[in-house]
Amino acid sequence: MDVSRLLDGLNDEQREAVGAPLSNMLVLAGAGSGKTRVLTHRIAWLMQVEQQSPYSILAVTFTNKAAAEMRERVEKVAGSNMGRMWIGTFHGLAHRLLRTHFQDANLPQSFQIIDSDDQLRLLKRILKSLNLDEKQYPPRQAQGYINGKKDQGLRPKHIDAGGFPIEQNLLNIYKVYQESCDRAGLVDFAEILLRAHELWLNKPHLLAHYQERFKHILVDEFQDTNAIQYAWIRVLAGNSANVMIVGDDDQSIYGWRGAQVENLHKFLQDFPGSSTIRLEQNYRSSANILNASNELIANNPDRLGKKLWTEDKDGEPISIYCAFNEMDEARYIVSRIQDWQEKGGALTDCAILYRSNAQSRVLEEAFLHKGMAYRIYGGLRFFERQEIKDAMGYMRLINNHNDDAAFERIVNTPTRGIGDRTLDIMRTTARQHQLTLWQASLRLLEEKVLAGRAANAVRGFMDLIVDLKVDTEAMQLFTMVDTVVNTSGLRSMYQAEKGEKAQSRIENLNELVTAARSFEMPEELEDMGELNAFLSHAALEAGEGQADAFTDAVQLMTLHSAKGLEFPMVFMAGVEEGIFPSKMALDEGDRLDEERRLCYVGMTRAMEKLTISYAESRRIYGREDYASPSRFIGEIPAKYVEEIRLRAKVTTPTMSSKISKPRATIAQDTGFKIGQTVKHFKFGQGDITSFEGMGDKARVQVNFTDVGSKWLLVTLAKLEAC
Ligand code: ATP
Ligand code: MG
Repeated sequence: MDVSRLLDGLNDEQREAVGAPLSNMLVLAGAGSGKTRVLTHRIAWLMQVEQQSPYSILAVTFTNKAAAEMRERVEKVAGSNMGRMWIGTFHGLAHRLLRTHFQDANLPQSFQIIDSDDQLRLLKRILKSLNLDEKQYPPRQAQGYINGKKDQGLRPKHIDAGGFPIEQNLLNIYKVYQESCDRAGLVDFAEILLRAHELWLNKPHLLAHYQERFKHILVDEFQDTNAIQYAWIRVLAGNSANVMIVGDDDQSIYGWRGAQVENLHKFLQDFPGSSTIRLEQNYRSSANILNASNELIANNPDRLGKKLWTEDKDGEPISIYCAFNEMDEARYIVSRIQDWQEKGGALTDCAILYRSNAQSRVLEEAFLHKGMAYRIYGGLRFFERQEIKDAMGYMRLINNHNDDAAFERIVNTPTRGIGDRTLDIMRTTARQHQLTLWQASLRLLEEKVLAGRAANAVRGFMDLIVDLKVDTEAMQLFTMVDTVVNTSGLRSMYQAEKGEKAQSRIENLNELVTAARSFEMPEELEDMGELNAFLSHAALEAGEGQADAFTDAVQLMTLHSAKGLEFPMVFMAGVEEGIFPSKMALDEGDRLDEERRLCYVGMTRAMEKLTISYAESRRIYGREDYASPSRFIGEIPAKYVEEIRLRAKVTTPTMSSKISKPRATIAQDTGFKIGQTVKHFKFGQGDITSFEGMGDKARVQVNFTDVGSKWLLVTLAKLEAC
């Protein structure tokens, strides 16, 4: 075995961490300093030098993508098969435990995971059944309350609501919600972790088994663990495991979801004999990008404080682009990526990061317009799309008739004459007799409480589900999906809708069949059956590793989901006050530091080139808003920056001759100008925002009030000036 190979490509501090004697260890270091690299090499070291079995190793990462990458990297370094090593996210690993020990966890074998949408729907129903007004008890607030308590490891019985009526009611909602989930065999995200933790506490024999097994626990991105995740690791580690955690307090960005950066300090107290290793050399970014990021984060108080330096050259300055509006911003980004591509760069090396998912739409439009491939991580994920969730709802109800969330979702999709009144009767009966909706419906039919048309409609729906179950039992998964999509009426429902949106829904449904066809059963879940595994896969992975993973495509994602990743070319879009930092962070002063850490995370993803852009005006909720550049831009010293204001060049008299001339010609050609309001026979009224091309090829971009932005050929569009 060649030990030096494992230490190749590491600096002294990294080597110290990788080759340390077996013990507890904290690697605390800034972005791009090689923490993840150290973790990966350490796993290989444990196996090859310390002769530890992969079976005894548990590695926790933050996303499924990171887990897959780590497995691959370790296999490359260690050159052996890691099949028996447990590596995954907290949720993924806890889910695996619950599946394996469903009885000990007090769950039915076919338990299903519900996402936050399903959870909200369920809560709405519960609020209604408790006669609580949604205005006084917004479902989202109840959801936040329940998830927050679960993240802290608290069941209703642990909570003392004191004499406060609102708190009392929230507690009661939590109780009723949990009872209803338990009856239906449903598990929400926070519940996965809570149950896995309770499994340790309530089943000492299981805990002993896993403590015996996992001698080595390694956790990446430790600064973003919450209380329950920390407790889970703490209990599992007991007094014998060796725990290595790596993290960076400056990249703690999930405080809003209950993550506790203090866990880094707590670790040192709770895990005896821990050593701390600091890494200070950054290998990712050019000096300009690194120094600018360091200066930005220095504005935060209460940091553990780290020095990061690089041997790299200054590199290009950070470009700050001031856009006229969000469409101009998208166009600029696309044109820079085109330049990059023309010089031989790969699209996949370019990432666009934004604060909130909604910002992706305009960018997507710009890419579609140019015919440039792009991929979205997170956000509008495949399995989160409406039509996919409808189809999965059928699959889930076929799999488990007591799945209330699925029942609610599809009982009247497509519409089959089951009205709100009938549904209310079902819900009330379910609530009164502690039944699931399916059981309640059966009872209502048997007792003839439902009669006539309503009864027929409900019976028809239930027959459909039962028939589908029988008919698809022996089918292969993908044939089953196809049958369900057709027989349920979903396909014809969307076919009957007109327009592009409906078309893309049909395409998505087709893609679901493809997804089922290419679904590979994870070895460790073989016992649970293919359908169950597929349903869990849909709920857990929600679009990570999309179908077109091999196409060269620009990567679009939120700043949050960019954590841990790196790209040669990074754009941060929409860096405006009210967007980033978000309005919410501005309203609640203490969230500003976390937004700045998010900005630090974003900037430090860039290796060669970083471009930050903001728009002077932006359409939000269909309204034009004027924005000012984010304070974070002001915090980057000018010496690292080059400002770009193309529009200013157009409007500044001294510069205008060069750039505005062709535009003026087009304007003369077409008779239209930017900002002008026009009318289209089909799309209605809108404002001209841009144009390109000449003569027959002249096109204008119009932002229509009703249908949004469109590019139109002037010769064909028959636009009328208003
Ligand atoms: P983040 O905080 O963003 O998660 P990190 O500390 O985990 O960053 P890595 O992703 O492990 O950093 O490393 C950043 C980049 O630097 C990677 O491309 C990695 O391969 C490279 N790198 C790390 N250490 C070295 C080294 N000693 N020599 C050369 N390259 C290195
Ligand atoms: Mg990392």
